[in-house]
Amino acid sequence: MAKIQAPVMKNEYYEVTFEDLTHEGAGVAKVEGFPIFVENALPDERAKIKVIKVNKGFAIGRLIELQEQSEKRIDAPCPIYSQCGGCQLQHLSYEGQLDFKRKQVEQVLARIGKLDVNKVNVHPTLGMENPWNYRNKAQVPVGEREGGLVAGFYQKRSHDIIDMERCLIQQAENDDVVQAVKTICERYGIRAYNEEKHKGWLRHIMVRYGLVTKEIMVVFVTRTADFPHKNEVITEITNQLPQVKSIVQNINNKKTNVIFGDETNVLWGEEYIYDKIGDVKFAISARSFYQVNPEQTKVLYEKALEYAELTGEESVIDAYCGIGTISLFLAQKAKNVFGVEIVPEAIEDAKRNAELNGIANAEFAVGEAEVVIPEWYKQGNQADVIVVDPPRKGCDEALLKTILDMKPKKVVYVSCNPGTLARDLQVLELGGYKTVEVQPVDMFPHTTHVECVTQLVLNM
Ligand code: SAH
Repeated sequence: MAKIQAPVMKNEYYEVTFEDLTHEGAGVAKVEGFPIFVENALPDERAKIKVIKVNKGFAIGRLIELQEQSEKRIDAPCPIYSQCGGCQLQHLSYEGQLDFKRKQVEQVLARIGKLDVNKVNVHPTLGMENPWNYRNKAQVPVGEREGGLVAGFYQKRSHDIIDMERCLIQQAENDDVVQAVKTICERYGIRAYNEEKHKGWLRHIMVRYGLVTKEIMVVFVTRTADFPHKNEVITEITNQLPQVKSIVQNINNKKTNVIFGDETNVLWGEEYIYDKIGDVKFAISARSFYQVNPEQTKVLYEKALEYAELTGEESVIDAYCGIGTISLFLAQKAKNVFGVEIVPEAIEDAKRNAELNGIANAEFAVGEAEVVIPEWYKQGNQADVIVVDPPRKGCDEALLKTILDMKPKKVVYVSCNPGTLARDLQVLELGGYKTVEVQPVDMFPHTTHVECVTQLVLNM
């Protein structure tokens, strides 16, 4: 094995000053220009560190002693912060987090997208007034300890499940329901799934909560369809938790880390719970994608609507539309909206959601955006505004090419990954668009994730 040339050595100690944060939230310090990434360190801090791994181009270190603290450092409020790994930025003040997210977007747009960030307006991150208890969905693995059940999270870098009563970023209702369901299952002697032996029954408990409607869905993910004490468990849940409107079972019989299996059945009540974002009502099923921070989703969609600058005369495309959330938001202000999404069940939900809201000017199609939209264009259709909200990997090249051919006046790009956003913006810029506004929105406080809404206009 070739020896790695680096100015630092494994197991040696160094005194360093941190300059930056990686996009995973680790501190970055340099020794003779060589970057070392250290968890739980912040920019401007001085510390003694130990190098634990040297790779080609960078090293990993561990914080040994903090010698000078950043003004932005706070005590992480969550008692299990260091074990869990679900949050990465609780030791940074909320203001510091919002700042970090804006800077990160700006850096990536310049580095990957080659955008002139002096001309593009990257706004301060829109944060939450109270950045806690925001998640509307809890998804907890279930295990066993000394005969009882544990439900919580996998300890960082392991498969041990740690019991958790409270997660500070969850809606409290979700935690309460998880605890209640766990206790009921325990009482009936229901065994947790055992990964190694591929035995036992209960793998995950998922709870979804409609923030506006207060409706709750409980989903059991189980190894097999049979269900000991099924009726008693259901009766207990409905007696104890009157806000539960739906109890669903998903069956996952595979030896896998993937949470859900292919089969989903309603055990009791409705197939859906409902929630509202602004004036639009949505039906949410166990498996459909729905943003996890409803309060900030409203902020995000309102920004998308603002950037679309609709007058009521426009034809709009919503690519990667999911259950039609953005489409229906836009339809209120557009002539018509055409939503495209790859998951057939999501499109069924989108159509149902249009009906539910009496929205008649939205149409939906199943398929890959990069196939459906070029065909739609070839058939002679046109759009004035195109909104895209792709998954982390960004837009397919064929879709970007069609946008450049179709030349809508505006493109609104909603992105959960600044890296692929930057890559795609460069393609659109080279094709004649100008990036005007970039608005980071904090959908996931205390984690390193950052969502952006970007407005592009045709530059001619
Ligand atoms: N706009 C929606 C969903 C965004 S998530 C909302 O805000 O709720 C991205 C969506 O893109 C997912 O629903 C995913 O199923 C879908 N998707 C992934 N690849 C796709 C493709 N090639 N074509 C169309 N949709 C795709």
